[in-house]
Amino acid sequence: MPAADPYKLAWEARREANRDKVPVDNASLQAGSPCYFRCPSCYGDIIVTETYLTKPKLCYDCLELVSRGLLRNHPHPGGWQWTGK
Ligand SMILES: [Zn+2]
Repeated sequence: MPAADPYKLAWEARREANRDKVPVDNASLQAGSPCYFRCPSCYGDIIVTETYLTKPKLCYDCLELVSRGLLRNHPHPGGWQWTGK
């Protein structure tokens, strides 16, 4: 049996650790604080400046996984799924 892909293990670990995390209430933060959004793939934080002009669709780690062809969003049944080995 081949060794599990460390990228897949890390992605699964992030999903498990972040699944039930309470989202940050950006409005409650001090002025000048970064803004937090939830990555729809791993449920981790997408962090941008308070005055952000654009926001990534995914966190940086998940964006990298997509660029490597290891992760993609399936319309059916819906949601981000591992497509690597
Ligand atoms: Zn992510």
